[in-house]
Amino acid sequence: MIEIFETNSPQETENLGKKLANDAVAGQVFTLIGDLGVGKTVFTQGFAAGLDITEAICSPTFTIVQVYDTGRLPFYHFDVYRIGDIEEMDEIGYEDYIYGDGVSLIEWANLIEDILPEHLTRITIEKNLEKGFDYRKITVESI
Ligand code: ADP
Ligand code: MG
Repeated sequence: MIEIFETNSPQETENLGKKLANDAVAGQVFTLIGDLGVGKTVFTQGFAAGLDITEAICSPTFTIVQVYDTGRLPFYHFDVYRIGDIEEMDEIGYEDYIYGDGVSLIEWANLIEDILPEHLTRITIEKNLEKGFDYRKITVESI
């Protein structure tokens, strides 16, 4: 199933993240794909709020994964942008997270395509400058 959303402010993108996380269940994996500055962190902040996590989300770029345990489900936030070798994912216990009892969200998941689970919700955020500087097209696809 594919759904397409359009937002025109960071707040709207955050709200969409929140809405999607409200319905998230244990074991669900989301991937988040989009260029630098497109709104992945904004979306993720809303997503965390939708899991009842109130703390600020910081980008886990240097640790690959950041775990938040204060929400209604554990939240595993991955950012694999700086991954050098896919084996680094084994080293951090990647499978224990994605097949675990929390909700996983993986930024730049296209870089670890080969080891993504079979079922996931793929979220793609894109700009379209013809539609304004703050316009974002957000595609949500369950596979
Ligand atoms: P990324 O994590 O993808 O690199 P960020 O979420 O850190 O990007 O930054 C997105 C930037 O775009 C923020 O400065 C935000 O205020 C701005 N922005 C403008 N319009 C939107 C929108 N519709 N949705 C999300 N962010 C937006
Ligand atoms: Mg970011």
